[in-house]
Amino acid sequence: MKMLIMGAPGSGKGTQAEIISEKTGIPTISTGAMLREEMAKGSKIGKEAEGYIKQGLFVPDDVIIAMVMERVSRDDCANGYILDGFPRTLKQAEAMTEAGIKVDKVLLIDTPDQEIIDRLGGRRVCETCGATFHVVNKPSPAGDNCPCGGKLITRADDTPETIKKRLEVYYDQTAPILDYYSELVVKVESVPGIAEMNERVMEALGL
Ligand code: AMP
Repeated sequence: MKMLIMGAPGSGKGTQAEIISEKTGIPTISTGAMLREEMAKGSKIGKEAEGYIKQGLFVPDDVIIAMVMERVSRDDCANGYILDGFPRTLKQAEAMTEAGIKVDKVLLIDTPDQEIIDRLGGRRVCETCGATFHVVNKPSPAGDNCPCGGKLITRADDTPETIKKRLEVYYDQTAPILDYYSELVVKVESVPGIAEMNERVMEALGL
């Protein structure tokens, strides 16, 4: 199965993607996590992406499309995958179609803006493995560290000004591509609690 998870930044799509992956064994590909890894390595893609990400802007389509196409061609994607954070523009959606990739389902997580702002402010990410936590909703069992031993940090793009910009960019560029997938979209409204939300998501997806 090839599934997309869509929703505004901070809607919890990354967290739900991780849980769906654990329960189904379908790998999750998160473009945001891939870019953060590239930035941590200081690679060419990482250096190029950093300026855009820190301003809350999208990384150029050609860079992202090439990165995702290479990733989905690997062996672990042979039986399907969950894309978290891709496509984010109509051009990216069209590139998938042009590459012959048939999407089976699109999960849309619908979250009010104020909740997004509150959630992103408390989000913490592991510098080493990329796992995501929240100071209130999903604290790390290892306190200020990740269970893997890595340090938990606030993402550079989780500042109030950048959050505002990211929401604007989402409504402007990403929300319209839901029309492109209108027949495949399964919409789930956010509820407090990750496990409760996951129950709704699994039920809505028939998983
Ligand atoms: P995320 O972790 O999904 O919120 O992504 C973090 C940041 O990475 C975004 O705010 C963008 O700057 C960049 N990014 C991730 N995925 C994409 C994409 N599909 N297209 C363009 N930029 C992206």
